[in-house]
Amino acid sequence: MPSNKFVISKPKPSITKLPEQGRKKTDFIDDFKQYYVHLLGRDENCRSPYYAGEALSQAIRDRLMERWKATHQTYKSNDCRRGYYLSMEFLMGRTLSNALLNLGVTEPVTQAMYDLGIAIEELISSEQDAGLGNGGLGRLAACFIDSCATLQLPVIGYGLRYEYGMFTQTIVNGEQVEKPDHWLRHGNVWEIERLEYSHSIKFGGHTEIQTDESGKQRHCWMSTSNVLAVPFDTPIPGYQNGTVNSLRLWKAVATEEFNLDEFNAGDYAEAVAAKNTAENITMVLYPNDANENGKELRLRQQYFLASASLQDVIAHWTGMHGDNFERFVEKSCFQLNDTHPSIAIAELMRLLMDMHGLSWDQAWAITKNTMAYTNHTLLPEALEKWPVSLMQRLLPRLTEIIFEINARFMAEVAMHWPADGERLSRMSVIEEGAEQQVRMAHLAIVGSFSVNGVAQLHSQLLQQDLFKDFYALWPHKFNNKTNGVTPRRWLAACNPELASLITETIGDRWITDLSQLKRLEPYAENAQFRQRWHAIKQAAKQRLIDYKKIKHGTELRFSVDALFDVQVKRIHEYKRQLLNVLHVIHLYNCIKKGDADRVPRCVLIGGKAAPGYRMAKKTIKLINNVAQVINSDPEVGDKLTLLFLPDYRVSAMEKICPGADLSEQISTAGKEASGTGNMKLMMNGAITIGTLDGANIEIREEVGDENFFLFGLTEEQIEARRAHYDPLEMIDQDEDLQRVMHLLESGYFNQFEPGIFDDLINSIKSPHDPWMTIADFRSFVDAQKRVEDAYRDKDHWTKMSILNCANSGKFSTDRTISEYNRDIWKLKPQPVKN
Ligand SMILES: *Cc1c(COP(=O)(O)O)cnc(C)c1O
Repeated sequence: MPSNKFVISKPKPSITKLPEQGRKKTDFIDDFKQYYVHLLGRDENCRSPYYAGEALSQAIRDRLMERWKATHQTYKSNDCRRGYYLSMEFLMGRTLSNALLNLGVTEPVTQAMYDLGIAIEELISSEQDAGLGNGGLGRLAACFIDSCATLQLPVIGYGLRYEYGMFTQTIVNGEQVEKPDHWLRHGNVWEIERLEYSHSIKFGGHTEIQTDESGKQRHCWMSTSNVLAVPFDTPIPGYQNGTVNSLRLWKAVATEEFNLDEFNAGDYAEAVAAKNTAENITMVLYPNDANENGKELRLRQQYFLASASLQDVIAHWTGMHGDNFERFVEKSCFQLNDTHPSIAIAELMRLLMDMHGLSWDQAWAITKNTMAYTNHTLLPEALEKWPVSLMQRLLPRLTEIIFEINARFMAEVAMHWPADGERLSRMSVIEEGAEQQVRMAHLAIVGSFSVNGVAQLHSQLLQQDLFKDFYALWPHKFNNKTNGVTPRRWLAACNPELASLITETIGDRWITDLSQLKRLEPYAENAQFRQRWHAIKQAAKQRLIDYKKIKHGTELRFSVDALFDVQVKRIHEYKRQLLNVLHVIHLYNCIKKGDADRVPRCVLIGGKAAPGYRMAKKTIKLINNVAQVINSDPEVGDKLTLLFLPDYRVSAMEKICPGADLSEQISTAGKEASGTGNMKLMMNGAITIGTLDGANIEIREEVGDENFFLFGLTEEQIEARRAHYDPLEMIDQDEDLQRVMHLLESGYFNQFEPGIFDDLINSIKSPHDPWMTIADFRSFVDAQKRVEDAYRDKDHWTKMSILNCANSGKFSTDRTISEYNRDIWKLKPQPVKN
């Protein structure tokens, strides 16, 4: 092992060697020393890997810079059509190892650090995760921009630069405790502030109609409080192709003019204090996944993102074309990541009409031909609505525009379906009731030319249920784009051992064409290949154990021979971590009964609960309490271990997925829009136990039923059962389930904390349980038995593992993005000459 202590010889005098920096080991050593000594002012007495990581990152960033500029120049001189991906979340994780991979310099850099006595792995893990997202939706945005750069598509990601990202989770007495994630405290080497592209964002005030010099009437939005949006750009390198795209994140900064006014009125201190209100906008990420965030600050964030990004695109346009928007549609396309940024539809109308003098019809033609909307959920509690009163106060001009959009839309519906008042009120953008609300999903559909779901089943349910009236009106708008994950981060970088074996076997084209993995299929029959595959999985399992030990100091009894059974994702009732716990308790009962011949199993569960989500937090407590009892029961020994992995995040998943045997994807059918954790695990050779939900259906289609453990009711069966669902009766008729419920209800897992799990127990026993956990218990337990039987036959299991990886080609975001581009964006790839 390198000692993390190195010798500094005299550095060369200049910091950079523009234009092109070397890619040899010695070039990295030179640059590293320059930054370490001259920029960071550290020497060999500094023991923290943090500064060494910082110095290396600077050296890598230099190598992105020329390519970044060249990419920018290519797009500009080709005046190409561009895509803009608007998302409130980008769950990027760490940057360094991905940048090394995509630049193709992992080898020389690892060697360079080694020569300096530094283990590169230590530098890589000293980087903070950029946790600017909750879960799947935010991670999807991150994988998308990686694929756009790899496919050389001119796409910019637009988002918010939250000062505090997703909270850090610690577990105290079995309960989740949240700690703020001040990820920018030590600065961020990967970002560049671009004050010169700032924009002013309006809030509050009122509207007036004024007549301009040419006698034209214009709507003016006056007496507003303005906030400055300042962009910070992060380079997004494609895979070894010279392209470096941009992720542009907005920070809210108080404007100076507004301070000065107040100062003249004598309220100096108040004026300076008001700075806080302005800068609050990008202070913190809302930590709710698949949940409504009805707060004023959240609406401010959404509008801030939409307005800053659109002003940015329009400023770029007018810089090239003046106020002539004739070819704007031909040259631009916006993709809205869920309804969160959908206020952009009204904002684009405002900017085009009020700021650039277009008529309603001109502006509307542009808006509805440039906006595309991706829906991410069918859960009613996640469908965003904003009280009209709040929107009126915060965004009065936008509210007028939304009402006008709706009035014209209602006229169109009335033409199509005369005298159908019910349908009008169902479809209206404005929901009537005690309090009028704006339905953001309806605004998103009315204002865009494309509406897509994120897996086949989800898209089908959108058309048949949630948006069926809209589908009847505009069937051509609706389409499916099954999610994916980037194979660079989720296989090549996170599992280098497996990646090398694959490359050695079928060449390296799989990294940018994942369908190539299919060529691994014949090797499932090759005993020597299987043995190597198995050895790599075992080593990854050992690393996962070590990671757990180092991180949490626990002495664990399980070995790499146990079945690693993994469920990592946000804690949510629809994802049914409770069903997993019921099964674990069932296994515990079997062991206590002396049921011989169980496969040793280690069940790993990880995920964050939204801080205000009571049931999710209780679920974490239950998992930890059950773990405590099982793990300390001498009768259980190494037959069963249950672990809660704290602080699940992108960098944790990079360690987890190489070491997983079994992937738990057990949501109630019809509730998980797609899932992407399922894809990462499959790609790394885990076998799925899953319901017919989201992308599980397509995973099973690809890998074949014999390599997938299917259980549970279908979406149709779930909906048919709902009316007469009787969980008590089902408990009554299933002895195993009876024993599990009895143990839970007897307080066996909460002896000194009476009643704390009553809510959880009552929820699954209720005939109105929306997630119908009990309905799938028997089928789940039976499927888990099949898992054990399969796992006993090592050779057979390894075959299944190989076949899962070999058939995961569809789930690359390269495929997903190619489809977005083919059907929606229609961008031409722009190769960059370096
Ligand atoms: C992939 C990923 C998710 C999404 O997981 P699902 O199982 O699809 O819900 C959430 N969080 C992180 C950190 C991820 O990497």
